[in-house]
Amino acid sequence: LGSSLRGTLDTLQGKSRLSEDDVEAIVKEIQRSLLSADVDVSLVMELSDAIESRALEEEPPGGTTARDHVLKIVYEELVDLVGDSTELPLESQTILLAGLQGSGKTTSAAKMAWWFSKKGLRPAVIQTDTFRPGAYDQAKQMCERAEVEFYGDPDAEDPVQIARDGLEETADADVHIVDTAGRHALEDDLIAEIEAIETAVDPDRSLLVLDAAIGQGAKEQASQFEQSIGIEGVVITKLDGTAKGGGALTAVNETDSSIAFLGTGETVQDIERFEPSGFISRLLGMGDLKQLSERVERAMAETGDDDEDWDPEDLLEGSFTLKDMQKQMETMNKMGPLDQVMDMIPGMGGGMMDQLPDDAMDVTQNRMRDFEVAMDSMTDEELENPRVIGQSRVERIVRGSGIEEETVRELLEQHKMMDQTISQFQGMGDGDMQRMMKKLEQGGGGGGLGGMMG
Ligand code: GDP
Ligand code: MG
Repeated sequence: LGSSLRGTLDTLQGKSRLSEDDVEAIVKEIQRSLLSADVDVSLVMELSDAIESRALEEEPPGGTTARDHVLKIVYEELVDLVGDSTELPLESQTILLAGLQGSGKTTSAAKMAWWFSKKGLRPAVIQTDTFRPGAYDQAKQMCERAEVEFYGDPDAEDPVQIARDGLEETADADVHIVDTAGRHALEDDLIAEIEAIETAVDPDRSLLVLDAAIGQGAKEQASQFEQSIGIEGVVITKLDGTAKGGGALTAVNETDSSIAFLGTGETVQDIERFEPSGFISRLLGMGDLKQLSERVERAMAETGDDDEDWDPEDLLEGSFTLKDMQKQMETMNKMGPLDQVMDMIPGMGGGMMDQLPDDAMDVTQNRMRDFEVAMDSMTDEELENPRVIGQSRVERIVRGSGIEEETVRELLEQHKMMDQTISQFQGMGDGDMQRMMKKLEQGGGGGGLGGMMG
């Protein structure tokens, strides 16, 4: 998508004025990029209207090319919407984290604590999640890795009391980060619980933690949390994956707030302060747009196509874990079913896929979501090596995730089938592999599979 936006922009090369058709074509590509990055539909329309009217009305300043001018407008409108990063004074404060289960609250709590500790402050994380089995251990471990103070009580049942005790016990710390429980959806008890914690803790700021893959659901979530506790900032997690985090724009717009941090991996150091230009460039699937809008000509030539970070070769190396499966499912969701993708690769089509049961590759969006929730309740050991999951572990996962036992078993079954398929690929000769990679490169025009799928 980034490349089609670039392609459209390239056709403007040398033009000093834009026709209505030019503007329309660009606006369409921008809409497409934003929608595929999960930006809210009505927000996309608002944005593109603003871009369109400015591009038509404003004269490009002297010496500026039309393309330069349009880029600048696009960039400015998006910067205007996301704003600067949430202000975080480096002083004593209490921060409350809210969000659904699996959004990345606990991970972000430890990451933020690590970040504050690097700024010379003394942070403490207080874990109030009494809902999710293993929440205490997970938070404690991450805080150990971050080398920051931690308070939790695995035996206590009242999150509000834990929050109070935690603030008292860690009174010597400067920055208190209060982690909370999430649920799978916005249930009344989650809202009631977080409201009670908010009242007890009286935070300086409440941050909403959102998975980058949140998509069109961001609006409802953001407005619910905004109503119940008030949101001063957003943390977007899992930006190391394929999702571009467009839901953040919706959340920021909905809560009239800004983005505070970006989560870019699973370790405690994988955290960045939000910075608009990089985020917007990623959203549009383009290189650094700030630079582009400042020095288009040179920067355009340097822009790499980082649109697709799926490397088919990854499939063929090492053991196939549940985590790999999750990544593959995400990718497939974007590209279409694996059998269709494989059909497009010469020498890899039908034959190999015919050996599979019909629904082996059929991972629907809903099933995938259930699988993801179930995986959230698994330990790292289980994700790396699903074979250790016996009856009692299945029961624990069912309890922890609220996902039906049948679905958890389906997940394990699906993994087994995919694992077997992958092993067949792994049995291929090197020559086959090289031919396949070459085809992929040729077909993709630099964009890999994404390019092939157009
Ligand atoms: P919570 O339920 O909101 O507390 O979410 P967790 O912090 O437990 O995170 C859920 C899952 O997402 C865990 O497996 C985390 O390791 C993972 N996770 C959280 N943040 C990131 C991130 O930025 N990148 C990646 N790749 N994984 C993340
Ligand atoms: Mg948690």
